[in-house]
Amino acid sequence: MKKILFLGECMVELRLSTSNALSQSFAGDVYNSAVYLKRAFPNVHTSFVTAIGSDALSNNMQHTVTLEQIETQMMFVHPDKAPGIYLIETDDEGERSFTYWRNDSAAKKVMDFIGEAEQATLEKADMFMFSGISLAVIEENSRDKFWTVLQSLKDAGVQIVFDPNYRPKLWDSPAKAKEQFDKAFALSDIALPGIEDFEVLYDLNSAEQVIKHCLSLGVSEIIVKNGPQSVFSFVDSKQEEHTIISVDNVVDTTSAGDAFNGAYLGSRLNDINIADSIKLGATAAGTVIQHKGAIIPKQNFNHAMTEKMTELNNKRQDNV
Ligand code: ADP
Repeated sequence: MKKILFLGECMVELRLSTSNALSQSFAGDVYNSAVYLKRAFPNVHTSFVTAIGSDALSNNMQHTVTLEQIETQMMFVHPDKAPGIYLIETDDEGERSFTYWRNDSAAKKVMDFIGEAEQATLEKADMFMFSGISLAVIEENSRDKFWTVLQSLKDAGVQIVFDPNYRPKLWDSPAKAKEQFDKAFALSDIALPGIEDFEVLYDLNSAEQVIKHCLSLGVSEIIVKNGPQSVFSFVDSKQEEHTIISVDNVVDTTSAGDAFNGAYLGSRLNDINIADSIKLGATAAGTVIQHKGAIIPKQNFNHAMTEKMTELNNKRQDNV
């Protein structure tokens, strides 16, 4: 069984309705990808690496992760920290705003829990995924340790995957973010950037420029997302443009990129070719944006994925 690790922060999500009722769930970019990967590909052993607290919400979070069939052995329990929280408010025009309480979250301490034994477990995986948010969350004085661990995973043959997911508020300065992202790209085998991240941070605004930047740092599989526009891939010295079927009924674009990443990586771990992996990534993203929230109902997601997988399988058989 192939094994993937996702390192990041899962947060408590609070949603305030117009009638002032609060509903609660759990979400976080890399966590969302883990959920969608495991739903689409139950045959991939999926593990989430983070730190949580010992409070009731942390316990519920761990339980929710377990219900998604994601392994929680590496969700370390910090004795006196609690998870980050964010609140989503939606105004009368449907415009959403977010408030975060995450500066002192347990997840910031994740590297404190990685000793020799944990590193040896991490080295047994096939793939390791993290994002610019995972990186920003790790405390500054633990970053050197993070880079050392990442290098050891790479040396052990684990494929490293990075999505920059730039969030300016999480960084002291754009220069610091760039410096850290370039370190991340330099250690990555697969990069899954969105053009928007590069526009804001690097002032690069075409897929070609993004690909060139990633290539210059040694990334070998580059997939560039661009909202409803086409996805570009650069693999084995070949650049390709993949058309996306645009969704008319967009309800909430939260976690579109995360769902894409999860389904794409699950496909690659199942040796599905780049073009079909992108089709499955786009189907996952296109389905998620037709529903509210980061994690959509399992049934709706699985139905769309099964349909697409069957279609692609049939096409492949026709071509044999
Ligand atoms: P992020 O969530 O990282 O900002 P993007 O906005 O680039 O990511 O979107 C990620 C993926 O979601 C795209 O590559 C595409 O597959 C899908 N997607 C986004 N918007 C649409 C849309 N309107 N119709 C169909 N697919 C979409």
